[in-house]
Amino acid sequence: MANEYFFGVDLGGTNVELGLLDGEGAIMAHVTEPTRTHEGPQSLVERMAEACRDLAKQAHVPSDKIKALGIGSPGPMSMLEGKLINLGNLPGFNNFFLRAELSRRLKLPALLENDANAACWGEFWLGAGRNANDMVLFTLGTGIGGGIVIGGELIHGSDDNAAELGHMIIQTDGRQCTCGQKGCVEAYASATATVARAIEALEHGRESKMQDTHRQNGTLACKDVFDHALAGDPLANEIVNGTALALAQICVSMRHITEPEMVVLTGGMIKAGDTLLNRVRSFYEEMVWKLKPEPMDICFAELGGHAGFIGAAGLAVHAYKHHPQRLYPSGT
Ligand SMILES: [Zn+2]
Repeated sequence: MANEYFFGVDLGGTNVELGLLDGEGAIMAHVTEPTRTHEGPQSLVERMAEACRDLAKQAHVPSDKIKALGIGSPGPMSMLEGKLINLGNLPGFNNFFLRAELSRRLKLPALLENDANAACWGEFWLGAGRNANDMVLFTLGTGIGGGIVIGGELIHGSDDNAAELGHMIIQTDGRQCTCGQKGCVEAYASATATVARAIEALEHGRESKMQDTHRQNGTLACKDVFDHALAGDPLANEIVNGTALALAQICVSMRHITEPEMVVLTGGMIKAGDTLLNRVRSFYEEMVWKLKPEPMDICFAELGGHAGFIGAAGLAVHAYKHHPQRLYPSGT
């Protein structure tokens, strides 16, 4: 794959990350563009195309050496049609044919992928999972997203929205989730839910140093909860344990569903480091069956915010090599 190059684009609510990679994963050039959603999708696609052309220029890669383009975006989406469907934090992008619009401007075959899946593929290709064949990724942020690789392939499901792992139900008739279901793991263990549980406990009159932080700042951040836990605050520890326990529960479930070699955790919450990781691991070891001991590593991602565009480019490489029918327009 030497001398062949691929664009990777990761569309987010605040920024778009764009990169040009070679077929082995070396990053030739990379740039961050503000999304500026209020300017509308056409303006954004125009700027994305311009940024890609600049990356090629910057890296001195001639356009005939660039073979395909991968785009990661928040879902839900139709991968078949290359269409965004209903993006909560990107108003104006509903039913937008992002893949065709960018493919046409850059004259390159393209694919569209869910952003958590793209990040999962990035970690699988070049990050924490580079030596694995089966892996699961959880993104821990405002919500919880996920990606599943089985036998070296991402799974997409019957209508492209598989691996919505944040909406696995861990509690019957439990906490209300933004998706409409009750008891989703996202409603317990996302950064938002972790803070919400802490604030609810304070409102119920529980004593905690978090109360002072909440009063001083007028708000409480997920980092504050983890910092107070590390400093020994009992309520903060209870809240963090609740988050870790919920995550360990879905690690056990995933272990039984796909038997991955590793579960990789990524997203803003992993900044908590061992305060999070050690607890998830320890709850997991406590809960998982002992019938047949099998090692399943639970670890942190390695590529940080670059995983999305690296994975999007990597999916373009993988499709170009193994599944050309996944690229639109096919056969180009
Ligand atoms: Zn849900």
